[in-house]
Amino acid sequence: MKAAVIGAGWAGLAASVALREAGAKVTVFEAGHTPGGRARRVFHTEFDAPLDNGQHLLSGAYKHTLALMRRVGRNPDALLMRRPLRLASLDGRFHLSAPRLPAPLHMAIAILRARGLSWVDRCATLRLMRGLKAMSWTPPRDWTVLHLLHYHGQSEALIRQLWEPLCLAALNTPMATASAALFARVLRDSLAGSREDSDMLLPCTDLSALWPDAAARQVTMRYGSTVRQIRPSPEGIDINQERFDAAVLAVPPTFAARLLDAPLREAGATGLLEALKAFDYLPIATLNLRLAEPWRLPEPMMMLREESARGHIGQWLFDRAQLAGDTKAGELAVVASAATGIADRNRQQVIEALIDQVAEQAARHPARLPSMPEVSAAELFIEKRATFAAVPGLTRPLNSTPWPTLALAGDWTDTGYPGVLEGAVRSGLQAARVLAPLAG
Ligand SMILES: Cc1cc2nc3c(=O)[nH]c(=O)nc-3n(C[C@H](O)[C@H](O)[C@H](O)COP(=O)(O)OP(=O)(O)OC[C@H]3O[C@@H](n4cnc5c(N)ncnc54)[C@H](O)[C@@H]3O)c2cc1C
Repeated sequence: MKAAVIGAGWAGLAASVALREAGAKVTVFEAGHTPGGRARRVFHTEFDAPLDNGQHLLSGAYKHTLALMRRVGRNPDALLMRRPLRLASLDGRFHLSAPRLPAPLHMAIAILRARGLSWVDRCATLRLMRGLKAMSWTPPRDWTVLHLLHYHGQSEALIRQLWEPLCLAALNTPMATASAALFARVLRDSLAGSREDSDMLLPCTDLSALWPDAAARQVTMRYGSTVRQIRPSPEGIDINQERFDAAVLAVPPTFAARLLDAPLREAGATGLLEALKAFDYLPIATLNLRLAEPWRLPEPMMMLREESARGHIGQWLFDRAQLAGDTKAGELAVVASAATGIADRNRQQVIEALIDQVAEQAARHPARLPSMPEVSAAELFIEKRATFAAVPGLTRPLNSTPWPTLALAGDWTDTGYPGVLEGAVRSGLQAARVLAPLAG
């Protein structure tokens, strides 16, 4: 089978691996020049090593992603730093750490021993987990995360300290509009699964080097090749007027809607077209900082306290030097999720406020961290359409289309996950399965 994949993000590349394994001759069309899509390597002259377009965190529950890495010959144990779940704020006021005990004891003990939560809040946290389990981890489809938290009697302090940063990290959507069902799914997989599922996996290389580079080497890549026309039919599919037996369209839904507008109308599949057009997006900003001297944080990933009125909009801080094993100089990444409106603000002021946030909160740490060294380089990446807004009641398209020769893939398809890497990978693998009958 001569197969095409459009889009070399994690979904498209996962599809390309599975199609190649099924015996297809695979060509990947990618508008950009680097494999990885929204999770890819970026070069910057003032930084010694490559950066990412945005700092990412994986979890032990990302089973398909970890298996796929091995399938293309990459070793997740060497490329990802695996840490038991530990949420520690840079100012030292909050600390939650899962001991190496079997599930669900590890989570119960982590919550009961959490520093910075009152006893009432610790019990409320356990109550929420029990309540979700009693709902079989499926709260009503129209509930928001805030609705769910209030329903289970979570206090404002607990929401602000624990649930808000977790919701933003997992769904990139504010609690007041985020889907409770998707949040519950993430909690179920990562906190209520096995102890290993709750582990945090932190990339030690750039994101393309994790596995997209290796996957890209196994197929024919056409970089800088934007697909502008698709003509699917039951017999085959024309892509930019070139004939293939089958294809996976693994681009964001807005682009998919544009490419499939006429074919879907002709096929009378306007429901799918409307679903593709219905997604909204939210931005994520990542500030990369190179420091003049080494500066090792107590944890490779730490929580930041938000105070948006002062521009302190970061939620998480990553010690990238620690992750890369670089002892010469400090390197940090500050992440601000759901950073609506950030692209319209003065860039330099955004950078300075985030640096101030880190320096100020580190200075409050009770272990007296050395003060933050001078910043020698700063690069702010703003991904305006980082993920789809994970709101209640979204209709997420399936991988199949009206044509047996075309499958859809992307984190936005009906994966049950919010817009995350594991969802993208699963979707790509599923799209390849949809086309499997043609391969035989
Ligand atoms: C800043 C940031 C931080 C994130 N943090 C996390 C995290 O910590 N953990 C996590 O699990 N997830 C995170 N995510 C989400 C994760 O990156 C995405 O879920 C995932 O990368 C989506 O992959 P995809 O293949 O579905 O889509 P994409 O990566 O968007 O891939 C689509 C590809 O199609 C290409 N393309 C588009 N149109 C065309 C065309 N016409 N012709 C050819 N090519 C085309 C694009 O260039 C792109 O490479 C984050 C995302 C961002 C942006």
